[in-house]
Amino acid sequence: MSEDLSKDFIRQIIDQDILEDSSCQVVTRFPPEPNGFLHLGHAKSICLNFGVAAEKNGITFLRFDDTNPTKENEIFVESIKKDVTWLGFDWGKKLTHASDYFEQFYLAAISLIEKNLAYVDESTPEEIKISRGTLTKPGIDSPFRSRSAQENLDIFKRMRNGEFSDGKMILRAKIDMASPNMNLRDPAIYRIRHYQHQRTADKWCIYPMYDFAHALSDAFEGITYSLCTLEFEDHRPLYNWFVKQVETQHCPRQIEFSRLNLAYSLTSKRKLNDLIEKGVVDGWDDPRLVTISGMKRRGYPASAILDFCKRIGVTKKDNIIEMGVLENCVRKNLGDTSERRMGVLKPLKVTLSNYDEGQVEYLDAQNHPNFPDLGIRKMPFCRELYIESSDFLEDAPRKFFRLKPGGEVRLRYAYIIRCDEVIKNSNGEVIELICSYDVDTKSGTGKSDKKVKGTIHWVSAQHSITSEVRLYDRLFKIPDPANVDDIEASINPHSLEIVEAELESSFAEENAPKVFQLERNGYFCLDNMSEKKSFNRVVTLRDSWAKIEKQALNS
Ligand code: ATP
Ligand code: MG
Repeated sequence: MSEDLSKDFIRQIIDQDILEDSSCQVVTRFPPEPNGFLHLGHAKSICLNFGVAAEKNGITFLRFDDTNPTKENEIFVESIKKDVTWLGFDWGKKLTHASDYFEQFYLAAISLIEKNLAYVDESTPEEIKISRGTLTKPGIDSPFRSRSAQENLDIFKRMRNGEFSDGKMILRAKIDMASPNMNLRDPAIYRIRHYQHQRTADKWCIYPMYDFAHALSDAFEGITYSLCTLEFEDHRPLYNWFVKQVETQHCPRQIEFSRLNLAYSLTSKRKLNDLIEKGVVDGWDDPRLVTISGMKRRGYPASAILDFCKRIGVTKKDNIIEMGVLENCVRKNLGDTSERRMGVLKPLKVTLSNYDEGQVEYLDAQNHPNFPDLGIRKMPFCRELYIESSDFLEDAPRKFFRLKPGGEVRLRYAYIIRCDEVIKNSNGEVIELICSYDVDTKSGTGKSDKKVKGTIHWVSAQHSITSEVRLYDRLFKIPDPANVDDIEASINPHSLEIVEAELESSFAEENAPKVFQLERNGYFCLDNMSEKKSFNRVVTLRDSWAKIEKQALNS
């Protein structure tokens, strides 16, 4: 069988392994640290880990990497579970925690000490840092490196018993202080932290370091493919060293892939946390963040996020994905499923001088242009209407086909109207248009063959529902906010605009859609989190940023 090049390199490796050994199992894990909410980068990892296993009837663990009690929290654990489920993945019974293995880690450390492969170092953190050397200079051995196994065992046990204060000493692996790979220069295995752990309370006061705990957790769970991001490539020799020296029954294999970077956004829990603490955004579920909960609240369907992850693929090349790729997935997923409605975001009043006061007509409007099965609804039409302020221009250029003084436009599903008079307030701002409608031009009647170039949306002023609508734009005005020092200065001041919109009356109905397209304005959804009824713009209909973004990324 030749390799299937339509598959990413990880899937090709797995195919090859199965070809060589049909009993080969696919066991993966998604190992988040519960120190924040998940973001789009995690979604990529979730899709990959759960995806490759599902394709081969394998198993995926959801494992909380809870080895750093000072940063971790039960709230994050719950949010992570909720987000993974929302994305559509199921870990079944395979929910684990690094802390489940604390005793086994401890015994593994003891075994390393007994083999003379680990020692307790009482040097200060500064001394340890200096003695590790640099990329161009080998490190030097710690004076504690030659301690006997017996002495190390005794001190390490006392470390566990809480005899020493934080930072007093660490347990280090004894590997090679001259290794060109800095990770192998006697890395720390355990440190002292007198801190309540969210699951084990005060049972432990020593906690294992990430590299040690991660490699061993993978080995204990029988993970066959430990998929992680590229920055761990240099850690792989250490990963393999731990697995080998601890002599675990199973040897997992680490494979690295590139992390997801999305232009104009942040995918780092630490940086997201900074934004939240500084009050720049409302919280982890702020709809401007590409956290899973933010995107969910914004109205992105899970299917769009899965589509996106599929589209960007899995490679070893670092790159930045344009925001438009994500937004296009959202548009594609909403386009077929959301019903159309009318709503005016920035209302301008129109009075039809030749339409009888008190008269109301109910006009047929389609719920979806491509799917007649989705039916029609009745839209009330009367003398006073609202149109979008941007659909009127007093000094319009020749090619402006919407409303202008003396000009004509079609009101969707209704009549052609002509603008006869412009009313302004004392500041010279247009506040109302007096128009006349042409009774013969009612949509669908074919009575008149009058044609106009523009069609605009509208709502009946008498029936419309005033609603708060939140218009979101990119949170950052620069494509790569992860690499700036002053993150607050790179915030787009127009990332959130709240408007009082006028929505068509059907929104008062019990079964009004929760996610819908406002014709010509974009996709919207009911905000589930706010106390009053308000709507979020999910995404605009077209990518108005595409050009700007291309220029910025190429410059
Ligand atoms: P962050 O910097 O946001 O805290 P992290 O890698 O420290 O990210 P973890 O909770 O340790 O966060 O990540 C869980 C898993 O998600 C890891 O396997 C990690 O490789 C993966 N992951 C995190 N960020 C990304 C990303 N941007 N792209 C792809 N995978 C990611
Ligand atoms: Mg991490």
